[in-house]
Amino acid sequence: MLDLDALKARYRSVVGAEPEGLWSAPGRVNLIGEHTDYNDGFVLPFALEKKAVIAGGQRDDDALVIVSLELDEEVRIPLADLKPGTEGWHSYLAGVAWALREAGHAVGGANLVMTSDVPLGAGLSSSAAIECATVATLADLYGLDIAPIDRAKLARVAENAYVGAPTGLLDQAASTLCEVDNGLFLDCRTLETEHVPLPMADQGYEMLVLDTKTPHSHVDGEYGTRRATCEAAAEILGIPALRDVTDLDEALARLEDETMVKRVRHVVTENERVLMAFELARTSDLSELAPLLDASHASMRDDYEITVPTVDLAVETAKKEGALGARMTGGGFGGCIIALAKAGDADRIGQSIAAAFKDAGFGAPEWFTATPAAGAGRLAGP
Ligand code: ADP
Ligand code: MG
Repeated sequence: MLDLDALKARYRSVVGAEPEGLWSAPGRVNLIGEHTDYNDGFVLPFALEKKAVIAGGQRDDDALVIVSLELDEEVRIPLADLKPGTEGWHSYLAGVAWALREAGHAVGGANLVMTSDVPLGAGLSSSAAIECATVATLADLYGLDIAPIDRAKLARVAENAYVGAPTGLLDQAASTLCEVDNGLFLDCRTLETEHVPLPMADQGYEMLVLDTKTPHSHVDGEYGTRRATCEAAAEILGIPALRDVTDLDEALARLEDETMVKRVRHVVTENERVLMAFELARTSDLSELAPLLDASHASMRDDYEITVPTVDLAVETAKKEGALGARMTGGGFGGCIIALAKAGDADRIGQSIAAAFKDAGFGAPEWFTATPAAGAGRLAGP
């Protein structure tokens, strides 16, 4: 649980004054649509109740003072010293100030004292939560009029150009734009978005999010190879991106490499599943999403080959214990799974997965029940 009194107390001890306000932005899970973003495809994330909160205020000395309660560190950076490629956790906040200034927004000095309960590096986008909360803070402190989608894009510039992580818009779009009880459909080519209802509690369901805590290894190389294979396939097929495959069988028949066939099949069928999930969520009982979650997992396991034993065991156990549908979520090689369950079942399923992990000699997972939450904004108060 976030301790906002501790946050405000820390602000007072660092700055010697009350914060001008509190701003927050959430982490997210991707309901469906994995490795589709860089193929110009579709994704469907929703925001978590876990979030980053910043106590903020203006400074008149043209510097940023950045504090994280979790890391118990305080950094002071003159605005004139902001430069891309700066290492360290504070770059996720400083990079946003840099991105805003590069885009011509008049942002001056600021105190940014933050806390977050989004787990770091679990694939729930603790990084976007910090960036998007920083955009919200600086925009309000300096009276900037920036449309929500442009806020997400600026947060992405911070992550891509300043921190140096080549990610798509998924995380920042979800953290900025999501609404309570809704998922966010994002077309990664046009960057068009649409909210889609996910009234889990109303329909008697809940969503388990379980972090397998598998250490990521060699992930960067695997991601790069997958991406390169997709680009090579698109080139052979003579299309801008795999998003443009219209006849899967015909496309696969034109590819000789067995691995390439599997990768293309995942991307194309995953895009279809996102579109189906989008339609179903708009019109039906959410339980009809369950087979799509299962099919997505099988496709990531067998065709895209990005799951690992912990993740597969977690998904299998969830299904055995009565989950309606389950899949790995995130880039792969560890990270989290999600499982759609009947209300009241999620925690029991989490416990069964923990027991199965113990039997298999794996480390202990962590889990929680997720409800689609709101995107970035100002909290009441301070
Ligand atoms: P993810 O976004 O999946 O959680 P990333 O590697 O993209 O993983 O981002 C994690 C990084 O974000 C951390 O290594 C740290 O630099 C920064 N970060 C996340 N949460 C905090 C926090 N509470 N305090 C300081 N830095 C944080
Ligand atoms: Mg991240």
